Amino acid sequence: GDMRYRVTAEPLEGGQGVLVAAEDVSHLSEVVQQRRDFVANVSHELRTPLTALLGFIETLRGPARDDPAARERFLATMAREAERMNRLVSDLLSLSRVEAEERIRPTAPVDLTAVLRAVRASLAPAAEEAGVALEFVLPDARVVVPGDADQLTQVFMNLAENAVKYGGRTVRVVMHPPAPETALRGEAVRVDVVDDGEGIAPEHIPRITERFYRVDSHRSREKGGTGLGLAIVKHIVSRHRGRLRIASQPGKGSEFSVYIPAS
Ligand code: ADP
Repeated sequence: GDMRYRVTAEPLEGGQGVLVAAEDVSHLSEVVQQRRDFVANVSHELRTPLTALLGFIETLRGPARDDPAARERFLATMAREAERMNRLVSDLLSLSRVEAEERIRPTAPVDLTAVLRAVRASLAPAAEEAGVALEFVLPDARVVVPGDADQLTQVFMNLAENAVKYGGRTVRVVMHPPAPETALRGEAVRVDVVDDGEGIAPEHIPRITERFYRVDSHRSREKGGTGLGLAIVKHIVSRHRGRLRIASQPGKGSEFSVYIPAS
């Protein structure tokens, strides 16, 4: 028959190795199994920073108590870990909200030009700090689509943030409004988020929009990633009856294209 296993790996206490367990889950439905995996993933993702925090608290109470320099360093690390947990919880809430509403198509008129200008403004400081040139190619005119402004902002924030995180020197966000005559027929607006960074190997592309899927989890965590950004993007785009296309060349860069129907 169709056998399915869930394989988990847990580091053993004291760093003495890894416990690998394989559980026969053939009897569970796909949905039940996915939910279980999700809960296991969330617990693991929350526990990692929590374990770090608990360790630092112990150190602050003991060895580092009378060392102000070490104390400052530990507190800075603790703040980073706490911020990570905070981001994870916000992303989980966004994801569950978007999933709950997925069948309800949002219909408020949203000016995508304004959305992208806002994304540019909030990302500019981080890009500058990272030494990344941020180029936006936007029309002067309003480009209105039916949608949810906050969610569409989140789509382009997540994509542009990833482009800065995993990108090279330049990130370009280019809007292609539909030609006026096709707009009447509801043609989609296309927005490309393009970077010249490390790229994504072809075997990973179909999976990177899955929750918690990362090409390199250590690197993603180091950069403050939650592993949920693209899952949120996928659900928001689908709620808008749009499409997400990912093209990438390892070593050259990536292009994420979002299509949002104009009516
Ligand atoms: P994360 O919080 O890890 O960034 P995402 O869901 O946003 O989570 O992205 C999932 C994974 O997809 C990332 O960990 C990374 O491996 C890959 N990825 C996303 N965007 C890019 C990009 N622009 N260039 C290269 N890899 C990317």
